[in-house]
Amino acid sequence: MSLTHTTSQELFQRAQQSIPGGVNSPVRAFRAVGGQPLFLKSAKGAFLYDEDGNQYLDMINSWGPMILGHAHEIIEKAVRDALPGSLSFGAPTKREVEMAELIISMIPSVEKVRMVNSGTEATMSAIRVARGYTNRDKIIKFEGCYHGHGDSFLIAAGSGAVTLGVPDSPGVTKGVANDTLTAPYNDLAAVQTLIDANPAQIAAIILEPVVGNMGLVPPAEGFLQGLRDLCTKEGIVFIFDEVMTGFRLARGGAQELFGVTPDLTTLGKIIGGGMPVGAYGGKKEIMNAVAPAGPVYQAGTLSGNPIAMSAGLAALTYLNEHVEVYTQLQQISDKLVTGTKKNMQELGMNYTLNQVGSMFSLFFTEQPVTDFASAKTSDLQLFGKYFHEMLQRGIYLAPSQFETLFVSAAVTDELAEQYLTANREAIQAIKA
Ligand code: PLP
Repeated sequence: MSLTHTTSQELFQRAQQSIPGGVNSPVRAFRAVGGQPLFLKSAKGAFLYDEDGNQYLDMINSWGPMILGHAHEIIEKAVRDALPGSLSFGAPTKREVEMAELIISMIPSVEKVRMVNSGTEATMSAIRVARGYTNRDKIIKFEGCYHGHGDSFLIAAGSGAVTLGVPDSPGVTKGVANDTLTAPYNDLAAVQTLIDANPAQIAAIILEPVVGNMGLVPPAEGFLQGLRDLCTKEGIVFIFDEVMTGFRLARGGAQELFGVTPDLTTLGKIIGGGMPVGAYGGKKEIMNAVAPAGPVYQAGTLSGNPIAMSAGLAALTYLNEHVEVYTQLQQISDKLVTGTKKNMQELGMNYTLNQVGSMFSLFFTEQPVTDFASAKTSDLQLFGKYFHEMLQRGIYLAPSQFETLFVSAAVTDELAEQYLTANREAIQAIKA
């Protein structure tokens, strides 16, 4: 049954001569699971195809954006229709206004929004605005949360940083690091302690309302509301980083699902329909501090790019008009999760499965996973074996224990059955 990856292997050899580590984003290199990355050629619906012609059921979906599956006809058409206009103007367009209006209508806490080119830009800009608005320097983030690769966030960062064992990256100055305070996720008391120790100095608290970057970790009951109350009391800007969860967990993101309202929200992934797009927005009063309305500088040559806006608008419009997609995603994800639990039970394994909507992670630990420390009790070697067993069976998972899976609407019941058969065989194989 062994798939061959000769072309991918040759390309990886070549890539390493010209690209650091052979990849343009670290986790892609498969270092956490061993082996060599696959070089992908095309994708359609629920499937990926590599350069050797192998087919895989895609359970990452470009790390989230492809919620409708690959090459969705509505998004492809929007891009094709936009092409004759221009690839870039660097000047305002009607589509940007439509995009802003649509985001605002889907996420009520967002009253004004600025488009950028990535999730990283969105989070970097959001904390700059929070700092400018409050005239304070420090921020609080949570251990294991990843907010992109901005300097301020590469402190106890999850995702690729922890996967590669560099949660605190060289190149981040002590000055910057000193302004980032960290607390364990789901630990309200620790946040209170930080606030007490730094009175009137905290500009922002930023978090993933549901964490995807230490594997999937949901917020404990009352955690998000507790933070909301603390921020209100202390004049701290409360930022939800919904780069993963926005438009995925519900039309209005995690804030709709949990009924907790942040001051600012950062967005990415789905908002671009697969194109490089991010956004940050929130209360008018705070967003009016952004240049040229206010003094906090932030800009971008390609921000609001017409092709990217067209793809994003098509994706968001579709989701806005087809909320039944969220029910469908929930049902198919429930099937995957319930089936995996059943497989484990029958095979005498008792590993932890966390799920919120169409995001889930199987942690190779029997402990509940509620924060970064508990996520790290996972058996990473076993995860690596499981990953390769699944890959050999045509299932493409995230190549790290500290990532979530993202289910797309292209996963049918039949494909879910295939996934579960592979899952059962893979667990059996690693147990042996
Ligand atoms: N914030 C969160 C929660 C993310 O998951 C990511 C990326 O995975 C980012 C920010 C950074 O986004 P980007 O990779 O588009 O820069």
